[in-house]
Amino acid sequence: MIKVIEPDTDKVTKKAVKALMTEIHRDDSKDRNYVNMQVNPCKMCMPMGGAMALKGVKNAMTIIHGSQGCSTYIRRHMAAHYNEPVDIASSSLSEEGTVYGGSKNLKIGIRNLVNMYQPEVVGVLTTCLAETIGDDIERIVREVRETGEFDGIDIIPIPTPGYGGSQTEGYFDTIKALITYFAKNQVQIPGKLEKSEVPFINIILSDATCEDVREIKRMVELFGVKALFIPDISDALDAPFTNHYNKLSEEGISREELKKVIYAKATIELGDLVGANHSPALFLEETFGIKAYRLPLPIGINNTDCLVHALAEVFEKDMPTALEVERGRLMDGMIDAHKHSATGDIAVFGDMNLVMGISCLVLENGMRLKLAATGSMSKRFKEQLESKLDQYQQKAEILQDTDYEIIREVIQREGVNLMIGPSDGKFIWEKDHVDFIRVGFPVHDHVGAQRKNLMGYKGSLRFLDEITNHLLDQKHKGYRDRMYQTYYPKKESHKPIQADEAAR
Ligand code: SF4
Repeated sequence: MIKVIEPDTDKVTKKAVKALMTEIHRDDSKDRNYVNMQVNPCKMCMPMGGAMALKGVKNAMTIIHGSQGCSTYIRRHMAAHYNEPVDIASSSLSEEGTVYGGSKNLKIGIRNLVNMYQPEVVGVLTTCLAETIGDDIERIVREVRETGEFDGIDIIPIPTPGYGGSQTEGYFDTIKALITYFAKNQVQIPGKLEKSEVPFINIILSDATCEDVREIKRMVELFGVKALFIPDISDALDAPFTNHYNKLSEEGISREELKKVIYAKATIELGDLVGANHSPALFLEETFGIKAYRLPLPIGINNTDCLVHALAEVFEKDMPTALEVERGRLMDGMIDAHKHSATGDIAVFGDMNLVMGISCLVLENGMRLKLAATGSMSKRFKEQLESKLDQYQQKAEILQDTDYEIIREVIQREGVNLMIGPSDGKFIWEKDHVDFIRVGFPVHDHVGAQRKNLMGYKGSLRFLDEITNHLLDQKHKGYRDRMYQTYYPKKESHKPIQADEAAR
């Protein structure tokens, strides 16, 4: 039960509020994963993932059907993380729209954005509010199309209720909606269902930085084959500086390419923790018979091997020599790091797929995984992580649907010396001075998060080096003081005595 704090009593001191919050937070169930209130949740909402996916589609514009705050929140996070201009429209639902339905707002919003941006694709994402009042966006979008005013523009309704999951489900659902929409339009053209002879593969990659996408593209190219990245944020959200400004990204997967998705030899979905009903790869397999490979994010040597083996199997090719060399270099780097890895007591938090990938790298390099935490809920996350922990004979706290209050508590209790996750962990870093590597989304207090490479053999090695260097810095920092205190324990400090102290 959530108790109500009377604000005018004045008896509610800061301490009492804290005690009350703890009581609400913990509940009696003794189940760490069960909370009925969250403080600073460890996730973003579904439309955030939807907006992210649409940013990787060429000439696409997003409109968020809900109150203005939802699109502001998403724009603010994306602009700060990518340091790129991020335009997202809002149907700007107010009291009237909330009570009588938001159809009018959404229709006007779509007309305005088409006039301003002239997009080829419009993704209409819903929010908590639009879903709660029960707005039927399928019908509203159908009515918009039937006016004939927007012929030639693909307007796609995508349900993404903020409370329906995390940004991960929103991301995968949006990809699935795009594929479904373009596949549906495609089958209406006679003769087009024939599988193409051109060998290419679909790659759906979650939680990747722009540099990660470029790296996986490079790995695929080493096989001498082609891939469609759905979506492709590599240049769209990390564009080079030019003298002209486009309101919409000219990079990303085009709608013509989205129509070709159903002719691929296979689909590799990297990030395999969402439920089957959210998986675009399984949808393509069930509907069009395109073989689905659902794999973990290629972070660490074992996970990257899974991707390379899948590519080799699909195209019936051997592992390219260049990749063999990179794999060997990663192994060499693992040997270099191993004498320092054992000093790592690591906490990983953020999106579940990324947490899983990083946890695998931590475990395979002999660090102690103390905490793996995500704001999402996934049976697969817990099962796969437990099995990995068993494999490496380790035990770690696994938290789902969690928040940064609980994460902080576990980090303090377990003596974690390195945190890895998005910028939301910075409050723990500030308050408790626990070392911190920022990865994932959002990273808004550092620059360059979109250019970090964590995936593939090369990315894993770079990331492992970064982790090891943090552990080495911890060892070197204060080393002389620690030695002095150990061998001359009676002295308070080895600092030279000041003149005024000596005089006393
Ligand atoms: S959680 Fe709901 S209200 Fe909040 S930003 Fe997301 S969609 Fe909007």
